[in-house]
Amino acid sequence: MTLESLFARASAVIPGGVNSPVRAFNAVGGTPICVASGKGSHLTLTDGRELLDCCCSWGAMILGHADPGVTEAVARAAARGTTFGIGTPGEVELAERLVARIPFVDKIRLVNSGTEAVMTAIRLARGVTGRDLIIKCEGCYHGHSDGLLVSAGSGVLTSGDGAQVASAGIPQAVAQDTLVIPYNDAEAARRAFAAHPGRVAALIVEPVAGNMGCVPPRPGYLKALEEAAHAAGALLICDEVINAWRFRLGLWSEAAGVTPDIVTMGKVIGGGFPLAALGARAEIMDALAPTGRVYQAGTLSGNPVATAAAVEVLDRLAADPPYPAMAAKVRRVAERLNAAAERHGVPLRVQAHETIFTPFAAVTPPTDLATAQRCDTALYARFFQGMLARGVYLEPSQYEVCFVSAAHTEADIDHLIQAAEATFAAL
Ligand SMILES: *Cc1c(COP(=O)(O)O)cnc(C)c1O
Repeated sequence: MTLESLFARASAVIPGGVNSPVRAFNAVGGTPICVASGKGSHLTLTDGRELLDCCCSWGAMILGHADPGVTEAVARAAARGTTFGIGTPGEVELAERLVARIPFVDKIRLVNSGTEAVMTAIRLARGVTGRDLIIKCEGCYHGHSDGLLVSAGSGVLTSGDGAQVASAGIPQAVAQDTLVIPYNDAEAARRAFAAHPGRVAALIVEPVAGNMGCVPPRPGYLKALEEAAHAAGALLICDEVINAWRFRLGLWSEAAGVTPDIVTMGKVIGGGFPLAALGARAEIMDALAPTGRVYQAGTLSGNPVATAAAVEVLDRLAADPPYPAMAAKVRRVAERLNAAAERHGVPLRVQAHETIFTPFAAVTPPTDLATAQRCDTALYARFFQGMLARGVYLEPSQYEVCFVSAAHTEADIDHLIQAAEATFAAL
């Protein structure tokens, strides 16, 4: 089936033909790809074409597609029943594994998406502090709940008109409780707290920003946020929906030496299923219903098929951590692409952090949203199309990160580098 005919059918019954706007090709042109199947590091499209996958379901598929161990765990779980709306052992096993690897988390609640995890974390922070205001960073994305679609990154940055409130349908009354500061600017955080004494419930941040492209934190930045939040009697929420188990066994905030009050996780820890989580120390988590007065619920939360996949993935990562090898592959991508781009006079540079990277269409990689928005998105689109024509699927937007999985081989990285050299030569 051609991509065009399938996309025409999709567009007739699904807005824009996609179930998440980040899948659209509006920023890069052409027809969005449609996947028939995936295996390891590769996708097979509905028209039979094969692509090297650097999206990996936005980082979720850290073991690669259709991993036999995960597929088996899922089949075994499904055969026992796919949902009961009642507790199952799998959710306990998953929560125990998460708690064991996060020193500052005693309890976990499982939810169905990163959006839900963050939405609950915010309500929880407001519930325990009795305060209303939230501080977030420009260009960080924390899911699509009302109060967080203010100066948000990712898809709203790709498709939006640059307005502060990144979506129609968000009441001003809700948006005004979200204060926005630049990422990587600790002084701006201190000023925001000082301007609203006793009123800020929490500051939320992506420790390594991934939704304006890959923008790592400056040394000391996260620690300064923690100190500023705590000095103001507010909580620090680290949104590790991308970061958790993506760079190491556990959280990036721990590696950065910070102790968040609430953490949110998704993507990798969901094992390829609609599963995400929030965690905190017991006194905060026990403020959630039914022990506490902050309400949160979910028909499918802690779903037994999803938890079976997640437990298998976490156990495999723990048994044989793939992170050093993955990071070495990303370093090779960055070094080779940057050298080749310079040689060909193409103003594009890869910014990488551990196992993620973004080819930025700029000579100086960004440190925040303002510098990210100086990138030449038209040049990125041409680079994306050149790579796609050579069998490599990058993210269809400048403002996203590319991922490798444990299934990406050295030969895959060679393919990526050769495709990029040929694309640079053609540009
Ligand atoms: C993807 C993402 C979310 C939202 O997760 P969904 O599962 O898509 O709802 C929240 N925060 C961050 C940092 C993300 O990258």
